[in-house]
Amino acid sequence: MEFCEKCDAMMVGTTEEDGTKVLKCRSCGHTKAIKGRLTVSQNITKTPRDKIIVVEDDSIPMPKTKASCPKCGNNDAYYWTVQTRRGDEGATEFYRCTKCKHTWRRY
Ligand SMILES: [Zn+2]
Ligand SMILES: [Zn+2]
Repeated sequence: MEFCEKCDAMMVGTTEEDGTKVLKCRSCGHTKAIKGRLTVSQNITKTPRDKIIVVEDDSIPMPKTKASCPKCGNNDAYYWTVQTRRGDEGATEFYRCTKCKHTWRRY
């Protein structure tokens, strides 16, 4: 609760014509800027478009193929395919390095 420094009447939150939020005295019209109460809307929760599906279960036998790991240069990798939601796009091939477990995909 804020009170007017001029007349001690109760101040209410209001929005000025230019969009700034201020406290305004109900009695004399004195205004005071609202400090530290600005709500900054954050929009940083982006869904990564190319989220790589990592298969955690190592017990599933996966076929191996010759693919060079972009991370360590190893030439053996497990591979599997994942059907994308839109069936007409075909399956995406995923690779996992047998050495460093780095996982990547091929378009
Ligand atoms: Zn006042
Ligand atoms: Zn590797």
